[in-house]
Amino acid sequence: MKIIMLGAPGAGKGTYAKEITQKYSIPAISTGDILRENVKNGTELGKKAKGFMDAGALVPDELVCDIVVDRLQKDDCKNGYILDGFPRTIPQAEELKKALENQGAAIDFAIDIEMPDEAIIERMSGRRVCKGCGATYHVVNIPPKKEGICDECGSEIILRADDAPETVKKRLGVYHEETAPLIEYYKKEGILHEIDGTLGLEGCINAICDVLESK
Ligand code: AMP
Repeated sequence: MKIIMLGAPGAGKGTYAKEITQKYSIPAISTGDILRENVKNGTELGKKAKGFMDAGALVPDELVCDIVVDRLQKDDCKNGYILDGFPRTIPQAEELKKALENQGAAIDFAIDIEMPDEAIIERMSGRRVCKGCGATYHVVNIPPKKEGICDECGSEIILRADDAPETVKKRLGVYHEETAPLIEYYKKEGILHEIDGTLGLEGCINAICDVLESK
């Protein structure tokens, strides 16, 4: 089961990807998480990516494509995977398609989480992330048990630099310009499924599972 999660930043892709991971025992691969880890560890990739990420821009395609193609070779991807935040441009989608075709494989589902921009801005202003393990929370929708402290590892939870309101607006602009065309792309490929992102956590998970079980 090879799945792509599409949708604007803050639409909930990461949260739903983690739920699906548990239910279907396939890994969730988030390019945003991989890049943040590299920035945190000060790797060459992290140094190259940081400026783009802080500005709310996309990291160049060639940097991201290599990470994903490498990651998909790992053993845990044998039975499938869920890609969260990749592809984000048409060239990335083409690169992924080519890499999979070389292995005689293809993506099975592209799931688009639809959310109006205003709802995204509201949601992202409440989003928090753990400094230690990267777990995500929301001050209203998914609060930690103890305010400001991660349930998983006990580290401090903070507002991600690129979740600041001005950067969110920039990221939404980038999404509409560079990523939203993928909706049409995957519609033409015949694998697009649209989910109403305003249904809430349980509603969205159920809708996604219905899609995944339809094949
Ligand atoms: P995310 O956590 O998916 O919202 O990603 C955070 C940031 O990482 C984005 O705003 C981009 O700067 C960068 N990034 C993540 N995935 C990609 C990708 N597929 N292509 C380019 N940049 C990406």
